[in-house]
Amino acid sequence: MNKNDLFELTITDMGTDGEGIGKYEGMTFFVRDAVISDVILARAMKLKKNYGYARVEKIITPSPYRVEPECPQHRRCGGCQIQVLSYEKQLEYKENKIKNALMRIGGFSKEELDAVMEPVVGMEYPYRYRNKAQFPVGYDKDGNVVTGFYAARTHCIVPVEDCLLGVEENKEILALIREWMEEYRIPPYDEKTGNGMVRHILIRYGFTTKEIMVCLVVNADRLPAAQELTGRLQRIPGMTSISINVNTKNTNVILGNETKCLWGQPYITDYIHLRKTGAGQDFELTDTAVAYHISPQSFYQVNPLQTEKLYSIALEYADLTGKESVWDLYCGIGTISLFLSQRAKQVYGVEIVPQAAEDARENARLNGITNAEFFTGKAEEVLPEFYERGGETAAGTGDVVRTDMRHPDVIVVDPPRKGCDMACLSTMLKMQPERIVYVSCDPATLARDLRVLCDGGYEVKKVRGVDLFGMTGHVETIVLLSHKSPDSHINVKIEFGEGEGKVL
Ligand code: SAH
Repeated sequence: MNKNDLFELTITDMGTDGEGIGKYEGMTFFVRDAVISDVILARAMKLKKNYGYARVEKIITPSPYRVEPECPQHRRCGGCQIQVLSYEKQLEYKENKIKNALMRIGGFSKEELDAVMEPVVGMEYPYRYRNKAQFPVGYDKDGNVVTGFYAARTHCIVPVEDCLLGVEENKEILALIREWMEEYRIPPYDEKTGNGMVRHILIRYGFTTKEIMVCLVVNADRLPAAQELTGRLQRIPGMTSISINVNTKNTNVILGNETKCLWGQPYITDYIHLRKTGAGQDFELTDTAVAYHISPQSFYQVNPLQTEKLYSIALEYADLTGKESVWDLYCGIGTISLFLSQRAKQVYGVEIVPQAAEDARENARLNGITNAEFFTGKAEEVLPEFYERGGETAAGTGDVVRTDMRHPDVIVVDPPRKGCDMACLSTMLKMQPERIVYVSCDPATLARDLRVLCDGGYEVKKVRGVDLFGMTGHVETIVLLSHKSPDSHINVKIEFGEGEGKVL
């Protein structure tokens, strides 16, 4: 086979990024925009020894799981890898993705997983779910200002007037900013030369409060014709915060370190409600809610509705009665911590970004929560520090370590894609909490870490995917682990009653 050869390929599987996979003459081919059960005419692109990449030249027989994509730009824009797959099938794909990672990387057996896996929690409506969007700004070939998204694996902007994952309000805001740029001759930033002004437009929307934040990422420390812009943006219902973020570096990182508020508040407020979970409960809303202040730089889950389900499951898995002490590692602005604090005696959060930890403290105050404390630092350093210095003052922090910090009842972790550091996992094992709740955005690193925890005396009790990112190949997973010690054996037996002891 040579590059550009055409051949017929049946797609029999889908890879971790949502690409179609098929076999042809002993070679495995990866094909973007092809979905399971498609029969396609493929064009060979890159060839390696026993695998290769191909393009869809023509669809010969479309998969029965194919649907008409809602977005006209879906093939050019790299954002939605699996938009042509029916939503039901997307959820099945995500469940398999989790299961395969746990089997291949974690070494768990299919039987073991079948006994603990619950179906992926899907969305009622898998579009318009994102509360945050970041649009790059540039020129099209005719010199008009365009906003949109980068085409897959490139830095070419595909103009997208209305991304269907975002809220409808984005469209009007973008149009208004483009108009203002044309009128006042404010140039978009040019990555090649480092000249120009506006790099990105960041928009955030509070789903429960309907508050809107607009932040222009600019290549200067002030914005010309700023009043003309804020005057127009203010007229959009819900506008609450308008700011600029200064980024003068030649980098792919979107946000710089400094944000200046131009109008309104430097943050928007949003609420996350607790929902009912467990058998027969269909995530019905409860009256319990936690308020959060979100600034342009804060990490905040992008799908608020599904996040409510995710955090409610985390709380269910943590199984708190009010007596427990809980560590929440990788806590961000305290989103999960403040949820947990409603039912725990004491929560300790750890977060590496100082501003996020400060936001977490502020969010605790905002909600009148006094049983949550936040530490700034790396989970793999802060946790061992507190553990090693039992009863004394933890190194450098001046904090007195209490027994409940060394031996928490529950530990929750929600690490970034690279998963937990080994030093963090081994301290968790030494602390021997009754339960560990692991929230993960990458099944591969989750599988790796679960193996460490299971070899260290824990067992997986529940695994559940939550679809936070419909139309894309990503999936969030939440796992409950419990400790297998003889002591907990007795407790668990009493809790679960006779007959179910065999799960131990
Ligand atoms: N639990 C939060 C945030 C999850 S995102 C929520 O649901 O909103 C992961 C967080 O881990 C980010 O806030 C990131 O800044 C933080 N982080 C990354 N590496 C870390 C480390 N080594 N130790 C502690 N926090 C870390």
